[in-house]
Amino acid sequence: MGRDSSISWLHRPGTVPRTWNPQRGCFPTEPSCKFCYVPRSCLRGSGAGGAYDGLIKLGKDSLTGAERPKWTGEIKTLPAKLDEPFGWRDPSTVFVNSTSDLFYERFDNDWIASVMGVIALQALQRTVEPHLYILLSHKLKRAKEWFEWVAGRPEGPGRYCIERAAERSKRARKVYEVIFGSLFQPAVPWPLPGLWFYASVGTNKEARENLPRAAQIPAVVRGISLEPLLEDVDLRPALRGDYDWDRSTETPFQSVFIGGESGDFAWVDDRKVPLFRSTNIAHLRSALSQVGEFPHVAGFLKQVGSRCFAETDEDARGWAGGVVAGRTHRWILRTSDKKGEEPLDWPPELRLRQWPEAA
Ligand code: SF4
Repeated sequence: MGRDSSISWLHRPGTVPRTWNPQRGCFPTEPSCKFCYVPRSCLRGSGAGGAYDGLIKLGKDSLTGAERPKWTGEIKTLPAKLDEPFGWRDPSTVFVNSTSDLFYERFDNDWIASVMGVIALQALQRTVEPHLYILLSHKLKRAKEWFEWVAGRPEGPGRYCIERAAERSKRARKVYEVIFGSLFQPAVPWPLPGLWFYASVGTNKEARENLPRAAQIPAVVRGISLEPLLEDVDLRPALRGDYDWDRSTETPFQSVFIGGESGDFAWVDDRKVPLFRSTNIAHLRSALSQVGEFPHVAGFLKQVGSRCFAETDEDARGWAGGVVAGRTHRWILRTSDKKGEEPLDWPPELRLRQWPEAA
């Protein structure tokens, strides 16, 4: 990874889309993680000696009985990958850990600090044409604890992270020596410029538990990643700030990504079963309409998922990709790609792809 990415939502105007994966491994703890796409997409590397050897195994799915790839819970850190961002010339939009979660409990505090330290060094080094790092996490309890812990480091959180990066990465060490090698010791801004933090939730329960935690995390842009969207999630308490938030921003959340779940089918006996959950278009509309009530919040529909459906004729109105009558739902809404990420298939009012103003 680290090269240009084909992930369509990362294509931010004027920047190179990239993924950066300095670690591997995770384990699902939230309902929305159930069909995590990573074990499926990285299964080929899970053989002996492969990149995901020991991290992914085949196991039975509790819902469908199908055999499918799952996380084992083991992890690997890849310190050499901490060097990677220092080789990117053009301003980039970087999805941090697209195949893991930085705050998965088994990654220790100093490892997380070293990843953050690379971003902190780049913020000092690249004041012109900065990169933008986008970090999504389902592990909000751990994320909040980590940010509280690092805030208590005597040298300051940014400097602490930079020193941990310099211990593990040769290129970070070089940049560190150039920047801090004289009597003049620049202050390291915190929250980190160029790092946007998104809390991933897919249900009301996850939103109620995790968004108040996410709101406490210091970030220049704080967002909600409503993905996979599994029900009609009430975003209003979070967007209007019903609970305390970290005052590095004027408002609690400035951006909402929305997406339906994508995935493959499996055969169980002679039945074809989906290894993903369908998306109700009414829930997508509801999320976008709630975002529309808050002018300071940017809404971004990434994809409608592998199977999007409408329960009423009214809900199916304006769908441009074609509809077919479904067995369990009134209408199945056709998409021209497997993830449902082509906006031209969607009704015009769903084609919202806004970036927050700090971009
Ligand atoms: S936190 Fe992310 S990477 Fe980890 S299991 Fe959940 S969806 Fe997958």
